Amino acid sequence: MSIPTPAKVPYRRIATEEAFAPKEMLEIYNKILAKGNTDVGFANLMGFYMSSPSDRAKHIMRCLEDLDDIRLGHMNESGVDVQVIALTSPGVQIMDKETAVAFAPVANDILAEACKRHPTRFVGMITVAPQDPHAAAKEIERGVNKLGMHSVVINSHTHGEYLSDPKFWEIFEAAEANDTPIYLHPNSLPKDMIKPFLEAGLDGAVYGFGVETGLHALRIITAGVFDRFPKLRMVIGHMGEALPFWAYRLDYMHNATVKSKRYEAIKPTLRKPSDYLKSNFYITNSGVAWEPAIKFSQEFMGVDRVLYAMDYPYQYAPEEVGFLDNMKMSDADKLAFFQTNAEHVFKIPHAKP
Ligand code: MN
Repeated sequence: MSIPTPAKVPYRRIATEEAFAPKEMLEIYNKILAKGNTDVGFANLMGFYMSSPSDRAKHIMRCLEDLDDIRLGHMNESGVDVQVIALTSPGVQIMDKETAVAFAPVANDILAEACKRHPTRFVGMITVAPQDPHAAAKEIERGVNKLGMHSVVINSHTHGEYLSDPKFWEIFEAAEANDTPIYLHPNSLPKDMIKPFLEAGLDGAVYGFGVETGLHALRIITAGVFDRFPKLRMVIGHMGEALPFWAYRLDYMHNATVKSKRYEAIKPTLRKPSDYLKSNFYITNSGVAWEPAIKFSQEFMGVDRVLYAMDYPYQYAPEEVGFLDNMKMSDADKLAFFQTNAEHVFKIPHAKP
C-alpha cells in the first residue's frame, strides 16, 4: 500500500500515546514468560507479540525497540512532528516489586537519552512502579527534576490492584505536587476479569482494554481521589475509554447508588462523576480516527481537553492522519486538538509548524 504524503498544515501534529519497549525490558519479559505460570493476560499480549512469526507482530516489535531512525522515518512518512512516548504496556507493572522498582529508572534513563538525541521530535513520560508507591513518588520527582519529563504513565491495574486503593495515593500526591498528569494507559485484563473476554477473543485493544481502563478511571473518581487531590490531572486514551458517552447515566446511577447506601465503597463525592471527567481529565483519540466521536468528546469535555494520539506502533495507520486533517472543524479547534493542548498538558515548548 502506498502511503499518502502528509499535507502541509498550519499546526504541528503531536501524537501523545506512543509506545516503546527497550530490549532490556524484553529480556526481563522473556524470563517472566519462560517461567510458564505467568499472568494469562500478559502471556496472551506480550507473549504473543514477542514470539509470533506474523509480519505484523515482528514489525511492531522492531518499531517498539527503536528510538531512532525507524521511528523518525515513520513519523516523517505520516506527518507526525512530535511523539510523546511511554514505556509500552504493561511496562514494569508485570514484574515483581523489586525488579519493577529497579527497572523503572533504567527505562526512564533510556527514554531520556533518546529525547536528548531528538529533542524536537521526542517527549518522554515517566514510568513508575506502583508496586512501591513511595519509590514511584520519588521517581516522579527524579523524572521531573533530573530528566525533564513532565508526565507519568501508569498501565492500568498492577497485578489486579487499582489506584483507587488509598495505599497507592502517595503516587497521586507526588503527581499533583510535581504537576505531572498521569496517563492511565490500558493493560491486559487481570485474571479475575479476563475469562469471558478471552473466550470471545475480545480481551485486547479491540474492546477489553477500554472496558478495564474505563473501569479503573471510574474507580479513581468514585473513590474520591479528586476531592483529596483536586489539582491532579489524568489523561485517558481511546476517546476517554468511552466514559464521555457514559457520563449521563454515570451521574444518575452514581447518585442513586450513593443514596441507597448499598456499597461501602461508594461514598458521596463532592461533585458528579462527569464534573471530574471535565475538570481533572484530558482524553486522546488514540486508535479512534473518527470525526463524530472526536466532535462529541470536544462538546462534552471542552475543546481544550481532547488531544491527538496515534498509538504508534500498534496502530500505525498513516492514512488516519489525513482523515483527521480533513475533519470539518474550525482552524482554532484543530490547532488545539493536534498541537496546543498537548503543548499545555505535556509542557512541550510551543513552536510553529
Ligand atoms: Mn497505547
